[in-house]
Amino acid sequence: MNKRDFLKTGIAGAIGLISVPALARSKNLFYSGKKEFLLPELPYAYDALEPYIDKETLMIHYSKHHAGYTAKFNAALKDLTTVPSTVREILSKASEYNAAIINNGGGYFNHKLYWKFMSPDGGGVPKGPVADAIQKDFGTFENFQEQFSTAAKKHFGSGWAWLIFQNGKLKVTITANQDNPFMDTLPEEQQGFPLLNIDVWEHAYYLKYQNRRAEYVNAFWNVVNWEFVNKRYARVAKS
Ligand code: MN
Repeated sequence: MNKRDFLKTGIAGAIGLISVPALARSKNLFYSGKKEFLLPELPYAYDALEPYIDKETLMIHYSKHHAGYTAKFNAALKDLTTVPSTVREILSKASEYNAAIINNGGGYFNHKLYWKFMSPDGGGVPKGPVADAIQKDFGTFENFQEQFSTAAKKHFGSGWAWLIFQNGKLKVTITANQDNPFMDTLPEEQQGFPLLNIDVWEHAYYLKYQNRRAEYVNAFWNVVNWEFVNKRYARVAKS
């Protein structure tokens, strides 16, 4: 288009020259040509996990904390020339990235899992393959529950308790801050494939339970989505 044509057709005509994919990119990505990690939709309503997880906590936790990690994660990735397509790829090479990417990427991914590990239809005892694996590696479900709860209750400061799959076995671990079991920066005994997590940052329970983290951890068992835990287990278990 020469200058005269541009003047004739005006701005609307000029916009018509921009390809559809370019428009789609500029709409979906705040920087062009690179991946943006999106805040996943919450799989249930804010009040769906009442009375165990209250509406206000869930709303702030998701729309402020998780949304914040998501925005900061994307902002931290902005200066990279290439961005891996999955968070797992980034976290498993955490040693190659800066603190902003690791902390916010961990926050982004840990919460993404946490929402799915809970369900209004959750709770009770697990069934299926993961129940068998729990029995094999912990003796009984109650033993596993006790180990996981104790880890979550006793962890000093912010972090997460996990059930991970490591070297063919299930194991309970704890990570500090927003660290994730995929991170190569963690000691080997904390690395593995995440099968269940619980957020023990104060923001996860303080509005309802104040300083009583133990009550929050006990309540958590009423909403654990064993179906999703089984789905994750199926990805790593040998048939
Ligand atoms: Mn949190």
